Amino acid sequence: MSYQTLLFDLDHTLIDSDLAEARSLSQVLSIAGLDDTAIDRYRAINTQLWSEVEAGTRRPDEVKVERFRRLLEQTEHPDRESDMPKRLADRFASGLVEHAEFYPGASAVLDAVTGGRRVGLVTNGIGAVQRGRIARLGLDQWFGAFAISGELGVSKPDPEIIDRCLADLNISERHSVVMIGDSLTSDIAGGRAAGVDTCWVDRSGGVVEHGATHRVTALEQLVELVG
Ligand SMILES: [Mg+2]
Repeated sequence: MSYQTLLFDLDHTLIDSDLAEARSLSQVLSIAGLDDTAIDRYRAINTQLWSEVEAGTRRPDEVKVERFRRLLEQTEHPDRESDMPKRLADRFASGLVEHAEFYPGASAVLDAVTGGRRVGLVTNGIGAVQRGRIARLGLDQWFGAFAISGELGVSKPDPEIIDRCLADLNISERHSVVMIGDSLTSDIAGGRAAGVDTCWVDRSGGVVEHGATHRVTALEQLVELVG
């Protein structure tokens, strides 16, 4: 299959979001005087909030402060009623930009697959964070459109965010478009809902039933896949 248009997810697909999050979170927890046991608690809160975003019951821009408000509440932090959640959220967001790094080899894969194609980024995330990462990593050298849920008010798997990205790329047909991402519930479900082919980036190599058009276990496999 030869694809003319590539749509990429960002977090956990092109960039090592776990690494950026861990480094930024460690800085923020030390500011708040919390020890590393708060990391698991934060992750559980964050996962819950983003699942609410995917379900359409929470706006993505609410996640930024709410996760720290809940963290301070659950740890009965003495400053939980102050502006501390907001300050931690701002520091954390800055850290997510400062520590954003490609997975090894990801930029070489972008070099190899994007030439002569229309390429869009479709990401569920906070506008300021994702814009900061786009600038830091120089993504505009490969991408012609950026659809960010926090800016558009619509999140994957809602196909509207993919429709908006394709419109920005001036693409009206769906037959040679592929949505590439690590999440079955947002990227693959969203791509299917939008009527485009899908490619699941499955680094863990676990699940067999995935519903995607294609499955790769490393980004490098995209080079052959997109033709
Ligand atoms: Mg992702």
